[in-house]
Amino acid sequence: MRLGVMGGTFDPIHYGHLFIAEEARVCFALDKVLFLPNGNPPHKEEAQVTSAQHRYKMTALAIADNPFFEISDRELRREGKAYAYDTLIELHAAHPTAELFYITGVDTIAEFMTWYRHEDVIELTTFLVATRPGYDLNALRGLLPARYLERVAFLTETRLDISSTELRERVRNGLSIRYLTPPTVLETIHAEGLYRP
Ligand code: ATP
Ligand code: MG
Repeated sequence: MRLGVMGGTFDPIHYGHLFIAEEARVCFALDKVLFLPNGNPPHKEEAQVTSAQHRYKMTALAIADNPFFEISDRELRREGKAYAYDTLIELHAAHPTAELFYITGVDTIAEFMTWYRHEDVIELTTFLVATRPGYDLNALRGLLPARYLERVAFLTETRLDISSTELRERVRNGLSIRYLTPPTVLETIHAEGLYRP
């Protein structure tokens, strides 16, 4: 089995996340993509993050109509920091015959040399990297050692200029986020009063 791994804070999930997961699935013939909302993101210590329960619910609703997408609360349940290393070790144990493909945006993988046990992480998965507005995929070639780049593949150049930060700001400012995230996510944000000042 070829298993896609889509980690994120998903605060909230949006069409940028869903698009790169689907693109990875189709272009790399993945059998399924597992969405893993993270608990305590190691790279987002200072930022205030919406409750895990709300982020999980929004992610579950967003992927519900795609039969190839699944969600796991594996990272949410873990005590302490959620490291990709631990997740990949657990996923290998849970799916011993699966080949793992970790899907990220270029902004995330650009910091790879700061990841916990990156020299082990690179042995555990192939990375499928999506471009993002403001980032140059070629710059990554200067940031990672050649032996790491052998484990990195790139998605198509189609960019969606959407971020969770922008969605949170738009809600706070009373602007619409319709067409940036699925209707079910929108409904949850409004029903729960998320991201209001
Ligand atoms: P925030 O603005 O809060 O950082 P985000 O939009 O970057 O949120 P994350 O949950 O941090 O979302 O991202 C999860 C993963 O999805 C990361 O690997 C990130 O690079 C990737 N990603 C998010 N949005 C996009 C996008 N529009 N295009 C490509 N990759 C994206
Ligand atoms: Mg981000």
